[in-house]
Amino acid sequence: MSEGPPRKILVIEDEPDIVRGLTDALGFEGFEVQARGTGQDGLEAAAAWGPDLVLLDLMLPDDNGYRVCEQLRERDPVVPIIILTAKAQEADKVRGLDAGADDYVTKPFSVAELIARINAIFRRQQRLAATDEAFAIGPWTVNARKHTLTKGRQSKRLTFYELEVLKLLRERADDAVSRDELLEKVWGVQGNPTNRTVDNFIVKLRRKLEEDQKNPRHILTVYGYGYKLVP
Ligand code: CA
Repeated sequence: MSEGPPRKILVIEDEPDIVRGLTDALGFEGFEVQARGTGQDGLEAAAAWGPDLVLLDLMLPDDNGYRVCEQLRERDPVVPIIILTAKAQEADKVRGLDAGADDYVTKPFSVAELIARINAIFRRQQRLAATDEAFAIGPWTVNARKHTLTKGRQSKRLTFYELEVLKLLRERADDAVSRDELLEKVWGVQGNPTNRTVDNFIVKLRRKLEEDQKNPRHILTVYGYGYKLVP
């Protein structure tokens, strides 16, 4: 898919069948894969190896996957994290996204679909690296290459998906963008069952860049439809 060294994917998962299936399929796609069966080993591997993407099971033998996710996110504000979960409950997914995950797949999942999502993430990262895009939202400057939001001396990191949401809203500034379109263009998956994914990211973005989250000035809700950016 790209020149340069292969992308590194860390799989933190304890079910041997899933680990084997993922390791084979991802290896076949040309990715470099390491797998760890506990949260602790996973965190150590992440720190030592510096993966380009993490696949994280929520039910690990030694630790709560949400906590592992938070710790991964603390160490690396940008690396895409996809949660593998058997929990189909909406609240669990939202909690995973709150813990810093970018996306999730529910077990049993299609490996082909998961790989399509992973490839979409890396393609967009590559496109992003080719540009040095900066734009303003109110007093903040978004630097797409550095994944930062800065205002004077303040600097905040943006995760991959937070940045993608902002970029799409910004392309269409002052125009409403529907939740469905955000899901399709940012997450790259049609028919993703939950719009809460989008809402959750909007909450996180408002937390980062709105002075008063209850009265947002820049990321506005268009009721029953989606969101609009007023830069
Ligand atoms: Ca498990």
